[in-house]
Amino acid sequence: MRSLVPRPRALAVVLTGAALAFSPVTGQATAKLPAAPMNDCFVPPASAAAKGGRGADTRDVSVAEQKAIQARTAQLLKAKAARGVSVPKGALAAASVPVYVHVMRDAAGNGDVTNTQIADQIAVLNKTFAGQEAPGTAANTGFTFTLAGTFRYNNNNWHKDKQSSTYRKQTRKGGANALNIWLVDFSYLGIATFPWDYARNPGIDGIRVQYTSLPGGTATNYDLGETATHEAGHWFGLYHTFQGGCTSTNDEVSDTPAQSSSTNGCPEGRDSCSLPGLDPIHNYMDYSYDTCYNQFSPGQSSRISSMWTAYRA
Ligand SMILES: [Zn+2]
Repeated sequence: MRSLVPRPRALAVVLTGAALAFSPVTGQATAKLPAAPMNDCFVPPASAAAKGGRGADTRDVSVAEQKAIQARTAQLLKAKAARGVSVPKGALAAASVPVYVHVMRDAAGNGDVTNTQIADQIAVLNKTFAGQEAPGTAANTGFTFTLAGTFRYNNNNWHKDKQSSTYRKQTRKGGANALNIWLVDFSYLGIATFPWDYARNPGIDGIRVQYTSLPGGTATNYDLGETATHEAGHWFGLYHTFQGGCTSTNDEVSDTPAQSSSTNGCPEGRDSCSLPGLDPIHNYMDYSYDTCYNQFSPGQSSRISSMWTAYRA
């Protein structure tokens, strides 16, 4: 069990359309980069120069897009309920999620992780989604994770996340309910797809994670495996807690107070908006350090339940 020593979260960015990249030098987002599918989430660089933080990125899903997704989700939930696929009022969806881990090593074998690290990563997913890092405060989402398969490849391009659409389509396993994790060496900590994009592009669905961020890895401040928790949060349909900045629309979750921007480190007491509540720096969907993260909120758990039912159940 972790202690409740204050720990910050890492930043995350939700993009639509164009891909954004982070400059390790300036920490600023730049407007081109690897072709990334719409709505991928980019957590900043894991390069040595960027280890001190995840950078900042101001590009977000627009309010109009958010509303369109909301409407579509409501429509799907209604249609599914008519077919008997629904969650009883007041209850939450819950499921055991099969996890496929793809270790994208280079030709020389660099980029490998041990089976113990993979087991530890699965354990971190289970711990974080069960709310065990902040008992009494963190939500137990009801979702659990089981390792369904580990696959290792040797390919210099895949290791560097090049040809990512191709390699994901060639290697992805399972259906909409399966979480595929590709471990690569790139300039981000992680990238995720959203559940509402599954139908139009199922082959790339999943999360790409910097291999050094697994438990026991070398990504300073991001080596406890909680980058995967953050990315999985997007995969379940969560936005960043700083989505929309200081607006009431925000991340569409009422119990994660608005924040003007992503958090770096673990600045206890940060309050970047005049709206009620301190910044949710301990929330897995901020950008704080792994040691700072300790919770999903009940509202996020409820959103995960709806999104799961709409898009992955
Ligand atoms: Zn993110």
